[in-house]
Amino acid sequence: MSKLSKDVVSGTSGQPMVKAEGVHKSFGLAHILKGIDLEVNAREVFCLIGPSGSGKSTFLRCINHLEKISAGRLSVDGELVGYRQKGDKLYELKEKEVAAQRRDIGMVFQRFNLFPHMTALENVMEAPVQVKRETRAVARERAERLLDRVGLGDRRGHYPAQLSGGQQQRVAIARALAMQPKLMLFDEPTSALDPELVGEVLDVMRDLAEDGMTMIVVTHEMGFAREVGDSLVFMDDGVVVESGHPREVLTNPQHDRTKSFLSKVL
Ligand code: ADP
Ligand code: MG
Repeated sequence: MSKLSKDVVSGTSGQPMVKAEGVHKSFGLAHILKGIDLEVNAREVFCLIGPSGSGKSTFLRCINHLEKISAGRLSVDGELVGYRQKGDKLYELKEKEVAAQRRDIGMVFQRFNLFPHMTALENVMEAPVQVKRETRAVARERAERLLDRVGLGDRRGHYPAQLSGGQQQRVAIARALAMQPKLMLFDEPTSALDPELVGEVLDVMRDLAEDGMTMIVVTHEMGFAREVGDSLVFMDDGVVVESGHPREVLTNPQHDRTKSFLSKVL
C-alpha cells in the first residue's frame, strides 16, 4: 500500500467525480465559460491547460463554490454543486449544506495563502479543528503525518516566512489534505515558484496521484501532464477545444488553436 492512502478518499456515488454539462458563467456582460462539458472520473488526474484568460480558474472556482454557474449542470460525486434536485425543480442548498459540499474539496492556489502568524503545523491543523470540530490531538496527529508525507516533518514549527516557496506550497497541500477531501483542485500550483522549487511540489502531487487522489490540475507543466495525467483538456476562450489522453493531445494536437498554444509552451 502506498504511503498516502489514509488521506485519499475516492468517490462514493459511483458517478463521475466531476461532471459538467453545458456549464456557462458570465460576469455581468462578460461571457466567460461558454458551455463546458467534461467528466472527471474518480482517481483520475485531469489536467486543464489553456491560455491566460480562457476561464480555467473560473471553472475550478465554480466547482469549489467560489463562483456560481450561470447555466448548465455541474455536479461533484453525483451531487449538484449548490443545489438539490426534486423532480424537475432545483432548490438552492442552505449555507450548512454548501459548507458540507465544500469540505470535501481541497484547493491549492498559485499563491500559497498560508496563515502567516501560524506555524506549518498550526496551518495544517486549523481547518479540521475549526471547521470539523476535531480534537486538537486528532488534528495534530494527522497534521504531523501529512507534514512528514510532504517532506516537511522537520519544519513543523516554522512560520511561512521561514519557509521557501516550495515548502510553503507543500504545507498548503498538506493543509488541503487535512480535511480528507475526495477531490483536489490545483490552480497553477507551481507558477509562482522559482524554477528550482517546482520539482519538489510536482513530486508531492505525483505521489498523491499514485495514491489514487482525484485531481484537477491547471498547469503549464506539460511534463507533469504527460507523465502523470490521465486526461487532458485544452480550453480556449471559455470552451473545450480538444481533449484526450495527455500524450495524444500533446504530441498530436488536432486543432490549430491547440497547436499554436503548445508551440508557445512546449
Ligand atoms: P484563466 O484562469 O484561464 O487565466 P480566468 O478564469 O481567471 O482565466 O479568467 C477568465 C476571464 O474571466 C478573464 O477575462 C477574467 O478577467 C474574467 N474574470 C474572472 N473573474 C472575474 C470576476 N470576478 N469578475 C469579472 N471578470 C472576471
Ligand atoms: Mg487562472
